Parts: sequence; structure tokens; C-alpha cells
Amino acid sequence: MATVELKNIGKVYEGGVRAVDNANITVNDREFVVFVGPSGCGKTTTLRMVAGLEDITEGELYIDGNLVNDVPPKDRDIAMVFQNYALYPHMTVYDNMAFGLKIRKYPKAEIQSRVKEAAGVLEIEELLDRKPKALSGGQRQRVALGRAIVRKPKVFLFDEPLSNLDAKLRVQMRAEISALHTRLQSTMIYVTHDQVEAMTMADKIVVMKSGVIQQIGTPLELYNNPANRFVAGFIGSPPMNFITVKLREEAGKLIADEGDSQIELLPRQAAAVKNLAGKDVVLGIRPEDLIYDDKGGRGIRTRVEVIEPLGASTHVYVSTKKHQLISVVPPTIQFKVGDEAVFHPILDRARFFDVETEQTIPV
Ligand code: ATP
Repeated sequence: MATVELKNIGKVYEGGVRAVDNANITVNDREFVVFVGPSGCGKTTTLRMVAGLEDITEGELYIDGNLVNDVPPKDRDIAMVFQNYALYPHMTVYDNMAFGLKIRKYPKAEIQSRVKEAAGVLEIEELLDRKPKALSGGQRQRVALGRAIVRKPKVFLFDEPLSNLDAKLRVQMRAEISALHTRLQSTMIYVTHDQVEAMTMADKIVVMKSGVIQQIGTPLELYNNPANRFVAGFIGSPPMNFITVKLREEAGKLIADEGDSQIELLPRQAAAVKNLAGKDVVLGIRPEDLIYDDKGGRGIRTRVEVIEPLGASTHVYVSTKKHQLISVVPPTIQFKVGDEAVFHPILDRARFFDVETEQTIPV
């Protein structure tokens, strides 16, 4: 059993920088929770407060129901894996993994069996006699994971553990950490700025911006029902298109006027935003929901600016007079820069955001 609960947690650094404001997060037993957000949003600070490496300015932190604000890191039964895996260069892989247990005075036989077990889980048994300099980046990261696993902690904390690895290895290690979570059945908290890591690994994602939690939910909850424009733009790749439109009533219909193009809203959308007629709203359309119309019908008229063929699909960057948009199209559609192209948004999947507050308008 290992739960972690943050209640109204805040952090102000010496000098007055507020890094975290009123964070409320419940990490359930065996859950994989990812803190994600842009650089400086406070995710590492939050993780370090859980680890006990930063003092908590405000609020309460509970591990398994016990208040631990003043419990030193070594007594919190937590293991942390960092971005720079910081292995001891003069020690073998075995000794690196055993070190934490040795200083905690575990019996030799227990240490041996735990290191062997962890090496088995990570498939690095044949590397135990090597020094870190004789390992690849991925192997070093596995040893760093091993060092955490042998401790059999209540909670694993990961601080951007994959950011030093090349793209291919990152994808591989991402899958390995997910598999490790399944195998160990432990509670894990993982910090990253990479929304793809968050989407692919998390049971639950905490999106942060400027020290404030924006939304907490499963990957698909955040993708399908973002609470605001920030979450909508942060989760999903390529990012959501935002189109500022003026709402206009016309013959009993509600029209979203982009300037060059007019979009007739669906009845349920019209009903929800009718009170905003005459005002601007922001329409959010995901790139995969912006469909190319080869007949050039009455949709959003654009000019093709950049074409990125990825093989399985093509990203096409287009512009209207007012907006830059991205669409994901099948690779069979061949564009040339400068082409005129008409796109239809799948309106049923459009989101609406308040221009000022940037909050989602439910439709
Ligand atoms: P990154 O992805 O860049 O690591 P982050 O989301 O993890 O960013 P934090 O490292 O938690 O962000 O930092 C949050 C805010 O607190 C930032 O504005 C940062 O400059 C500030 N901060 C971090 N550490 C300290 C410190 N020791 N003293 C003062 N301010 C700090």
C-alpha cells in the first residue's frame, strides 16, 4: 500500500519566487502519475517536496495517510531516479546497485539477492561486473533504475529520467519503465516536459503551468475534455489549432466568422454559445479534425505554406489571412507550397474557449 496526498501544497523559495501554488493531488496505490508542463512550471519542485529534498512552505503532504512534512528524506521510504543518473564511476554495476543497501547496513545475502533480482527484472545480469564507462546510455539508465528498485521503496519518483537519451532509446526506455511499473505494481510519480511521455505512460496526468495545476485526469480525459486552452494546446501533437471567430446570428443559425470563411455551428453548439452572439470566441480544432476537401467546397480557405511528409501521414501547415493552421492528412494527398486548399473542421469535435479567461466553454 502506498498513497501520496498533497493538500494545498505551496512552495516559495528564498528570495520570494513562488514555484508552486495550492497543489492538491492524490496519487493512489500503484498508480503511475505524471507531472507535466513547460520549463519552470514547478513540476520538479513539487516532486522534490514529495521526496523531502525541498521544504514545504504551505500545506500538508501525506504518505500512506501519515503527515510527512517534517520527515527527513531517508525515512520517507521513497527512491528517486534523476535525469543525470549519477552512477559512481569507480564502482561496478553491482556495487552501484548495492551501495544504498550497504550504507543502510543490510545483510550481505539480502543485498546479493535483491541486486540479482533487480538485475533480472532489468535484464542487465551480464553487466554486473562492468564499470559505468563501459555501458551505453540506456544501460546506465537501467542501472540507475536498478539502484532504486533494490530499495523496494513505497514510492518511486522519476525526474525527467529519459531526457539525456537519444530519441530512439527514449522510446524504448519509456516502454521499459511502463513494463516495470506493471511488473513491480508500485506507486510511481514521473516528471517530464514531454507530453508524449505523459500520454503514453500515465494512468493520470497532472498538467501544471506557472506553479498552478491546470487539470488532472487520464490521458484521454485531458485530450478529449481539456479544461482550458492551455491544456488543449499542450496535450496532443501536432498541437490543436486555435481560430478566433466572431459569432453572428443569421436566419436562426449561428455562424462562426473567421474573416475569410464562415462556419455554421451545430445546433447544440449554437444553443450553448448563443449568448455570445456578436462576440469573439476561440474555436479549437485538432489537426486530425481539419479535413482537406479536394473539391474545394465551402470550408476554410487556406494557402499551403509548409509540407512535412512523415510517411504514414503528412503534416501540412497552411494559413488564412488571420491564422496559421496545421492539418494531418493521408500521405496520398500531395500538396505543393503555394497551393490553395480548402479544409473542413469536424465540427462535432471542435472545442470552444473564452477569449479572455481561456477556459473551455462547455457545448
Ligand atoms: P524544468 O522542466 O525547467 O526543470 P520545472 O517545471 O521542473 O522546470 P521547477 O524547477 O520546479 O520547474 O521551478 C519552478 C520555479 O521555481 C521556476 O521559476 C524556477 O526558476 C524557480 N526555482 C527553482 N529552484 C529554485 C531555487 N532553488 N531558488 C529560487 N527559485 C527556484
